[in-house]
Amino acid sequence: MSASGTPWHAFETEAIGEALGVAIDFEHGLDESDAARRLAEDGPNAISLRPPPSFWRRLLGQLSAPLVAVLLVAAVGAFLLGESIDGAVILAVVGVNAVVGLVQEGKAIAAIESLTRSLRVDAMVRRDGRWRRIDSESLVRGDLVRLESGDRVPADLRLVQVRGLSIDESMLTGESVPVAKDVAAVAEASPLAERSSQAFAGTLVARGRAAGVVVAIGDASEMGRLGGMLAAAGDFSTPLVRKMRTLSRLLVWVILAIAGLAFLVGWLQGRPASEMFMAAVALAVAAIPEGLPAGLTIILAIGVARMARRRAIVRSLPSVETLGSTTVICTDKTGTLTRNEMTVTRIVAGGRRYRIEGVGYEPRGAVVDAAGDEPAAMSASPALERLLEAATLCNDAHLVEREGVWAIEGDPTEAALLVAARKAGLDLDAIESRRPRVATIEFESERRFMATRHAGDAKQAATIVVKGAAETVLARCDRALDPRGDVLPLDAEAVHREIHRLAGEGLRVLAIAEASGAPDAAATPGTDFDAASIGESLVLLGLVGMLDPPREEAAAAVAACRGAGIRVKMVTGDHAATAAEVAAAVGIGVELGGSLDDRAERPRTLSGAAIDRLDDEALAERLAHVDVLARVSPEQKLRIVRALQANGEVVAMTGDGVNDAPALRQADIGIAMGQSGTEAAKESADLVLADDRFATIAHAVEEGRGVFGTLRMFIVWTLPTNGGEGFVILASILSGGPLPLLPVQALWVNMTTSVLLGVPLAFEPHEPGAMHRPPRDPKRPLLDFELLMRIGLVSILLWIAATGLFHLELARGRGEASGRAAAATAHVIGEAFYLFASRGGIRPFWSVPLFANGWLWAGLATMLLAQVAFVSLPPMQAVFGTAPLDAIGWGLAALAGTVILAAVEIEKAVRRRLGGVGGSD
Ligand code: ADP
Ligand code: MG
Repeated sequence: MSASGTPWHAFETEAIGEALGVAIDFEHGLDESDAARRLAEDGPNAISLRPPPSFWRRLLGQLSAPLVAVLLVAAVGAFLLGESIDGAVILAVVGVNAVVGLVQEGKAIAAIESLTRSLRVDAMVRRDGRWRRIDSESLVRGDLVRLESGDRVPADLRLVQVRGLSIDESMLTGESVPVAKDVAAVAEASPLAERSSQAFAGTLVARGRAAGVVVAIGDASEMGRLGGMLAAAGDFSTPLVRKMRTLSRLLVWVILAIAGLAFLVGWLQGRPASEMFMAAVALAVAAIPEGLPAGLTIILAIGVARMARRRAIVRSLPSVETLGSTTVICTDKTGTLTRNEMTVTRIVAGGRRYRIEGVGYEPRGAVVDAAGDEPAAMSASPALERLLEAATLCNDAHLVEREGVWAIEGDPTEAALLVAARKAGLDLDAIESRRPRVATIEFESERRFMATRHAGDAKQAATIVVKGAAETVLARCDRALDPRGDVLPLDAEAVHREIHRLAGEGLRVLAIAEASGAPDAAATPGTDFDAASIGESLVLLGLVGMLDPPREEAAAAVAACRGAGIRVKMVTGDHAATAAEVAAAVGIGVELGGSLDDRAERPRTLSGAAIDRLDDEALAERLAHVDVLARVSPEQKLRIVRALQANGEVVAMTGDGVNDAPALRQADIGIAMGQSGTEAAKESADLVLADDRFATIAHAVEEGRGVFGTLRMFIVWTLPTNGGEGFVILASILSGGPLPLLPVQALWVNMTTSVLLGVPLAFEPHEPGAMHRPPRDPKRPLLDFELLMRIGLVSILLWIAATGLFHLELARGRGEASGRAAAATAHVIGEAFYLFASRGGIRPFWSVPLFANGWLWAGLATMLLAQVAFVSLPPMQAVFGTAPLDAIGWGLAALAGTVILAAVEIEKAVRRRLGGVGGSD
């Protein structure tokens, strides 16, 4: 692309088009056909992801683990002692381990990359004279793009229009404070950080709005030239994984110490140092859980993929675990619990009530005068007409009909107003061209209203139209219309009663007002005007009530959370009565353990204004007793999260706007909306809901709990292998007898069982009942007393089995090689039987569907074949020092496995008696 390196920041705005070779028309934008041609020529606007660390660097990472160091020392020692086969086997294990680690890491990187890519970014672009939302990959140079707070800049832009814009460029320049932007050209020599006339791809809009011309796309953008985007959350580790890593590092030292001590004891007993060295090595490799970290990573990766399939995209891996501990979910109302498909069903204009019929966005349905119960004629309802006209003017949405299907572009709240106006027979285009808009105050959650300024015409003077949350607008009114359209003093009391009546039906209530005779500002189109200039003597045109039905699955999802001991609280910018009504419909406010039929009283609400009057302590106290937080602003969300956390809760909080980011970061689980959320919110979130639905949060919790159960099961199954082997070798060193397991044999058992038997555990279907348990206490240790008992029990049983079989073979006169083969086989088979006892928590193994997991059986079959080869194939015998087992040997190993299974089943039965509930969590 020739444009790279062009000093766009130094061009005057008028010169950009010429330099790009496009005629830039700010009103029209590019032609679609022109854009399509350019897209075909230049390719998509996609920045390559920064290449992951090189193969060699990653290999080095694999080899730097303490375990590997121990093994390498052992290998060198073996070579020096002339045990070159042992040395080679140990080296081979190091190699295999590194390769397995590399492959896993590669998979993890690929998974993160694909997740990063699946979160596509939209861009608002001017094409064929209209603003359209398109996938930012289809942007081409010359496109006119609009930015607003929370957006990720989709390409390198030369800004042509700026309103209070500042951009967080930390990902590009490392500067953490957002920088202010302007349209004025800057010196050509300016460094990147000072090019205030440009916005760069990949950076985040912190405040304000702007429009700019795309001057560089994809890898030609500054970010692309810097070497690509970093993939999102790169670290595949969680508190649990880190704990396990610390544990295995600790184990390495403890085991080394014990091995050293054992060496010393044997040496003092007068045994040859070389033999004792190999025994110490055997102890070390036997007791260190080599396969554990890899297994945990695989389980987490599978969990993340599973969540992604259920539309929950994990941005930070620790949240997989935290989800299982979540005690409170604070959720938005609009779009999350409800469908965000607004339909105006009620209008109060000029004091008269109207009912609007029809469903969906199709502009068909009558406007009925509720008093006379007959269709309202516009000519007879001047107040209604003025209200709908104003609603059309103060509006950024569009209705579009494609093949007979009506759809909307823009905010559903605004689109619903257009549908209502069309139902009343108004000509929207005519209204907009008669009174063109000259300035705008955009809607913002903090402000709760939108205002537009319009040029006058022959009939009407210039006006300001205000639409917004009913009380907010009402507070600025002192007059109202009567049905005939004449202006009267405002009866605020009566209007408040109407607002309550509508909100009590669960409707979202907006008020619309006008300031007539506003000075015709010489403002340039598209600029903001001062909110203060609106004044407080507006004329109320009327109220609009819109229906936004709850999503069908929301009540069930809220109930599922309730069953799982999680409280759901609604946090919304909407009116308290509206919010309470919707909350009641989906079962928010029902006590834990209660059912939807228990919602006798209305959910308890607290308003944003009341929150401001409470100090932190009082707020924390109140929050324990309220279910709905209404008229809440984004800053208050942060306080709410903090207060709940002060109560000891583990808090999940949803959000979509740029101002929600601090609350999302503060929450234990920040959840952003994938569709309606800003990039800034997604950036700050741990979890992104691809479909914006509340039910997806419940699914994520369920998966998170399942993954945790699987991790626990894997650890409890794995550790006894090492415990058992460790005992076998330690005991034989201390007793002075021959080693029942050689170092290479211990390695064999460790590696094959953890790969062939352990990894398939990751594919176990999650235990049922994950959502019928209370949240896990994050402070409870993973390996609690019961699990440590279990690990001890199975370790001892494996030790007895292996040592027993070894000595039995010796007693039967079959020699040490056979004895060791029998000890290793007893170990492997014991682990295989124990695998079945590990499934299903403390439920009996036969209550878990035997064939639910095909991988398990594939792994088992492979393991058996490998073990037969291990003892029977001459090359394996040569390498591992084994000898064939006869039928009795195999039979005894199987018997040992059965005894272990039976013992663990007895232990589980005892625990069931003692009052366990049946889960592993
Ligand atoms: P929520 O989405 O939780 O209902 P918002 O902060 O989006 O909360 O909206 C708060 C209030 O602002 C709404 O209850 C409504 O009365 C009003 N409102 C919402 N959207 C618009 C809009 N586009 N224009 C004017 N007012 C709006
Ligand atoms: Mg909203």
